[in-house]
Amino acid sequence: MITVSSLLDKDWRERYDRISRLNIRSSIYDVTNQCNLRCRGCFFFSSGEQHVTEETDIRKWEAFVDREKDRGVNLAILIGGEPTLFLDRVEAFHDRIPSYCATNGIIKIPRDRFPDMIVGISLWGSSEDEISLRGRDVFSISRKNYAGDPNAYYLYTLTPKQLGRAEDVVMKIEDCGLKVHLQLLSNDEGAAGFSWTPEQLTRARVEMDSLLDKFPKTVISSHYYHEVITTGMLLGRRWGFSECPSVTEPLDKRNPQPKRLIRFIRWGADLKTMHRCCTSATRDCTTCKDGAAHMSWIMVNKRAHIRTARDLKNWIEVYEMFAKLYKYIPW
Ligand code: SF4
Ligand code: SF4
Repeated sequence: MITVSSLLDKDWRERYDRISRLNIRSSIYDVTNQCNLRCRGCFFFSSGEQHVTEETDIRKWEAFVDREKDRGVNLAILIGGEPTLFLDRVEAFHDRIPSYCATNGIIKIPRDRFPDMIVGISLWGSSEDEISLRGRDVFSISRKNYAGDPNAYYLYTLTPKQLGRAEDVVMKIEDCGLKVHLQLLSNDEGAAGFSWTPEQLTRARVEMDSLLDKFPKTVISSHYYHEVITTGMLLGRRWGFSECPSVTEPLDKRNPQPKRLIRFIRWGADLKTMHRCCTSATRDCTTCKDGAAHMSWIMVNKRAHIRTARDLKNWIEVYEMFAKLYKYIPW
């Protein structure tokens, strides 16, 4: 019988044991419907999911987070809109549950209020790419705000137009003392030239692998994650709604049920609406390239990877990547 012990030597077994002790129950929260940018391809504004009436009473936010904690959530992923526009709401989470804040980096999170909160700064390419897709050179602003911050990293969304040009961006990130995680654009608004062709996805995989090999201290990633997200295949199964682990649990009527995130919900900023999944209900699941969902797809399918040493090590590396991104283990 194939077991974990039969596939791993002592070092790998220790790595496996370290991540196996983690018991993460995450959910995602739209902190606000507002943003100080309007990026072309933003899943939030293109989906209409911002059309809920935002809760403005901070005491209701605090009570809501208390209920979420009671529900067993131990990792709050704060998105938006732009969460830094409402730091009192961010604080309501941060004071109660380990929290991660996604931001475009224009407003600097005050570290005296949030000393250890992990911040993921969205990045859509070089300064020129950001001007074209986001209307401003956001990269220059966010680098100035977060240079050297030990609890911040870039979430770099590669687009087809950046193939062959990502290295310069990663070098700039390394130069300012930050880390970077790579993901792929899903082009929710069908911007011309920004949808992936199979050939471009093959090149993206090569480029992501090369960035990880060249900048191993700066890029937080894994080759297997690159394979899965660019091919959309996991051990012979194809990505799509029927496989997605990041569907809001109370809305999940799929039959048969795939392996999924336990108790996961994505909440709207009215604190009542549950959205379908970690991205948007209007996105086409067959072309969805959401990085976190693909990462979770691998992680929840542990048992399927206990078949060869290489498969299980791939699984461990992806889990470690996730654990590093949320600082459960050091970078
Ligand atoms: S910064 Fe984020 S939430 Fe705001 S428009 Fe851009 S992608 Fe959307
Ligand atoms: S859009 Fe992506 S994250 Fe959402 S249900 Fe579909 S595959 Fe999952």
